[in-house]
Order: sequence, then C-alpha cells, then structure tokens
Amino acid sequence: MEGMAEEFIKRGGKILLSNKVEKIDDDFIYTSKEKIEYDLCIGADGPLSAVRKYIGEDCLFEIGSEYEMKYRMEENYLEFYLSKKFSHHYAWIFPKKETINVGIIGKFSMLDYFLNKLKIDGKIVSKKVGMIPYGGMKTLVKNNVALIGDAACMANPFSLGGISPAIHAAKILAKNIVNLKKYEEEIKAHPIMDSILMKGKKALEKLDDREMEIAFKRINGKEIKEIKYEDIKHLFLHPIATMKFYRIAKALIHSLKWGW
Ligand SMILES: Cc1cc2nc3c(=O)[nH]c(=O)nc-3n(C[C@H](O)[C@H](O)[C@H](O)COP(=O)(O)OP(=O)(O)OC[C@H]3O[C@@H](n4cnc5c(N)ncnc54)[C@H](O)[C@@H]3O)c2cc1C
Repeated sequence: MEGMAEEFIKRGGKILLSNKVEKIDDDFIYTSKEKIEYDLCIGADGPLSAVRKYIGEDCLFEIGSEYEMKYRMEENYLEFYLSKKFSHHYAWIFPKKETINVGIIGKFSMLDYFLNKLKIDGKIVSKKVGMIPYGGMKTLVKNNVALIGDAACMANPFSLGGISPAIHAAKILAKNIVNLKKYEEEIKAHPIMDSILMKGKKALEKLDDREMEIAFKRINGKEIKEIKYEDIKHLFLHPIATMKFYRIAKALIHSLKWGW
C-alpha cells in the first residue's frame, strides 16, 4: 500500500487523509472538510460506500468475524467447516507461520463457540469484523462515476472473498477508464460474476448436516484425486442433495480458478 501511495504521489496524485466523503453529486465530492470538483469519480470506499448512494442501489450483505491467533496447527492445510452447528455458511482456519487466521461467517459469539468446540485456544493478536457485500449490482456506472470492490458488492458470493474480484475488476477498469460503460459491460460478463457462485452459496446454505454426512461418509479422509465413482454413486439415491452438491462443486471449482 505504501509503495502504491508513493508511486501515485510521484505521478502527480494527491492523497487527502482524514477527509471523509459524505456524498457526491453530478459534479462535486463533498467531504468532511471541503467540496471537490471532479471529472471522474471511482468509488472504492468499501461496504458502506458513500459513492454507492449516488448510484442508488443496495447490496446483499453477510457479516464476517475473524481472529488472528497464536496457534500452531498440526497440519498445514486450509480448513473449512460447513456444519450448521457453527455457521449458516462456513468457518475457516488459515494456518500461517506462528499464527492462524480463524474466522466465521457470523458473529464473534459464534466464532468463540466454534473455537471452544474445536478446543483451539491461543492469544488473540488481532480481531477483524465487517460487512461483506456480495452478489453484484445492476448498475455500476452512472455518468462519470464508477464503483469497484466492496463498494460495488463484488465479493464472490460462494467464498465471500472480495480481494480477487477487486483485482480482476481493477485491471478491467484501468483498461476502460475512458469508457466506463464498457467497464460495466465487461465486469458483468466476467467469470467473477458467474451465476454459479450465487447458486453455490444458496446450495451451501440449504445443505443440512445429514446430507453432508451422506456425501462425506465414503470420501472422508481421502485426497480429492483418490475419489472414485464408487465413492459417490450412492449420492444419486438422494437427488436433491446431489443437485446441491453439484452446484457446490461447480462453484468451488470456479472459485479456485478465478480466486477465492
Ligand atoms: C472478517 C473478514 C475476513 C475477510 N477475509 C477475506 C479473505 O480471506 N479473502 C478475501 O479475498 N476477502 C476477505 N474479506 C473481504 C475483504 O476484506 C474485502 O472484500 C476487501 O477488503 C474489499 O476491499 P475494498 O478496497 O473494496 O474495500 P475496503 O478494504 O473496505 O477499503 C475501503 C477504503 O475506503 C475508505 N472509506 C470508506 N468510506 C469512506 C468515506 N466515506 N470517505 C473516505 N474513505 C472511505 C476506508 O477507510 C477504506 O480505506 C474478509 C472480510 C471480513 C469482514
């Protein structure tokens, strides 16, 4: 971030700190300190975007809560927990060198319950909680104003990760900075906005613990490449669960390809 800021200033950019954008209109940005005339305004102002209010559309939201915690996992894998006992969506553990990032789609009280059940205990180094806007928007551009990242509700609905979609979108925006409508068109057609991600999210939410048990009883503990048709054919006796698993698997593969 510091490197980007230095480069921006070197190229003639100006950064105004402690200057909160309160609203914008067709010509001006109104901040807590001043009124600034603009030619082009890119709203990258996060989940509660003031610029999005000008566009006049809202997003779908989830709440994410995460600790960075001193803890060493026995195995160095990313772990995902889909049980409805913990979250309607999922909980995660991302091991790092001396710490883990452990989080949940839900509140801190749910994260504490999850940690308690897994018997994970350690010094909390930092806490992060926030709204995660997802699902995209019908209008990303109005006049000379465009939205990007969380301001544009761009997080992947399935993983709820917002960084990869924002990086893809930034490249598209830079390419089309003189033609914002083209930016909007290209974003809507891009795989980060594929409808399978929303279908995967809905299927994940509707999957109950019993269906999960049906699916995993024969593949539990296996590496993905070891799974054979024999291990999954019993799923076809449960067509509704099979459809949910199909959508989850497609959304998972799509997310792994285009960014979690
Ligand atoms: C607990 C949690 C865990 C997450 N984990 C992951 C993960 O592992 N991987 C992943 O890909 N994503 C993750 N996300 C989502 C990810 O953090 C966001 O999608 C990403 O940060 C969005 O970046 P952004 O730049 O669009 O918005 P932000 O990071 O929110 O940046 C917006 C910026 O605008 C500024 N701003 C806001 N309002 C104003 C205003 N009115 N005036 C001036 N400035 C303003 C803010 O201060 C901020 O600097 C997580 C989210 C949460 C809540």
